Parts: sequence; C-alpha cells; structure tokens
Amino acid sequence: MKRTFALFLSLFLAFSLCSCKEHTHNFTLKVESADTFFAEADCTHGTRYRYCCECGALGEETFEVGEGSGHDFCMQLVREDFSAAPATCEHSALYYISCLCGEHGEETFSFGNPLPHTFDRQDTREENLKSAASCTTGAVYFYTCACGQKSHLTFTVDNATGHDFCIMNPTPDTLAKKATCMGSAEYFYLCACGERGEETFTYGEPASHKYINYSCIYCDDILDKSDGVETPILPY
Ligand SMILES: [Zn+2]
Ligand SMILES: [Zn+2]
Ligand SMILES: [Zn+2]
Ligand SMILES: [Zn+2]
Ligand SMILES: [Zn+2]
Repeated sequence: MKRTFALFLSLFLAFSLCSCKEHTHNFTLKVESADTFFAEADCTHGTRYRYCCECGALGEETFEVGEGSGHDFCMQLVREDFSAAPATCEHSALYYISCLCGEHGEETFSFGNPLPHTFDRQDTREENLKSAASCTTGAVYFYTCACGQKSHLTFTVDNATGHDFCIMNPTPDTLAKKATCMGSAEYFYLCACGERGEETFTYGEPASHKYINYSCIYCDDILDKSDGVETPILPY
C-alpha cells in the first residue's frame, strides 16, 4: 500500500514539474543585459530593455534606463517633410531646422531665391496710376504683382474724357474770320488741352470799310471822290 502511494506521489510530482514548464509568463522583471537590450538611448528615450519573465522569456514591452538627451535642432536640411512655406515672390522657401533624429523644431531657415514677381494684375488704385485720363487718352496704370510690387509695364483704361470746347481765348492763333465793316472777328473755341473746336464766337468791334477804287470790298459803300483820298487800309 505504501509503495502504491509513493508511486502515485512521484507521478504527481512529475506531472507538476511538467506543468511548471508551461507556466503563464509574467513579464515584470527589469534586467539590464545584452539579452534584454532593445535600443540605444536617443533624443527622447533612455537606453531601452525588454521586460522579461522569471523563466528568461522576453516580453514585448520595454523599460528605460536613464533619460533621452533631448533634441538638438541644429541641422538645416532641405527636405520636403521639413518644408515650412514654399517660396513666393516675397521670400525664399522656408524649412524647419531639424534634429539628427529626424524631428524638426519650430524655427525655420530660408533657402534658395524668391520666385519672380508675376505682373498680371490690373489694379486701378491711385498708387498704381502713371498718368491720369486726358481728353484723348484713358488713364495709364502700372501692372502689379499680387504682392503689390509695380511693374514698369503699363495698361490703359478706356476712360478718355473727350474734348470740351468751352474756352474763349481770342488770339491770332484762334482767329477764324477777320473783323470787317460787316461784323466782328470770329474765333474758334478751345478745349483746356489746347485743341481747337469747330464752333466760333465773335469778339471785338466791326472794322472800318476797306476801299479799293473808292468802293468798299465788303459792303459796296462808295467813298466820296470829292474827299480826294482813299482811307488808308491798316493791316488788321
Ligand atoms: Zn515565464
Ligand atoms: Zn532629436
Ligand atoms: Zn510679387
Ligand atoms: Zn481737350
Ligand atoms: Zn464796307
């Protein structure tokens, strides 16, 4: 009977030992060794090791020893993923300063040249005016870029004012018809720009008769021959 029990006990122990090999791992041990090593320290982490179980099995989770060195944003790399702003006509392309680890900071640096201006805007604001509208031509403005920069190229607006013949300026230049004994002189109206109109106005007194062979060439008035002289004709 005792032998039977001893046999049973040994079987039980053997079974127990066997089931011990298939225990549930418990990854809670922090061991710093070449076996548990996971990654070297970097900017954001200390040296990392995997947790392990009493049996030596390694878990997926890691723990850190020490602290990360912190980022050192000192690299000026021109890379698409570090782009802060594309180049415009006002500034070069901007990139974030980066750390060796691949992270980038907030500070930026510029690289390359600004884009050329695109002078395609017809902006008729006062500051872009080159010359105001006149009687015969519209106002002339400089083309501008979206950024406000002015070109030396210009465009003309169709807003010519047209002549206004309202100025009376009786001079030899504006004379349309000399004064005669029949009426006063006629002059052309002027526009403020100096252009002469078609319409005329009369100005001044009628002139005296102009006699040739004792007869006025304008009104046929006859000069009395008994006077003995022809009225001298004065140049107008
Ligand atoms: Zn285990
Ligand atoms: Zn870093
Ligand atoms: Zn521009
Ligand atoms: Zn005019
Ligand atoms: Zn006359």
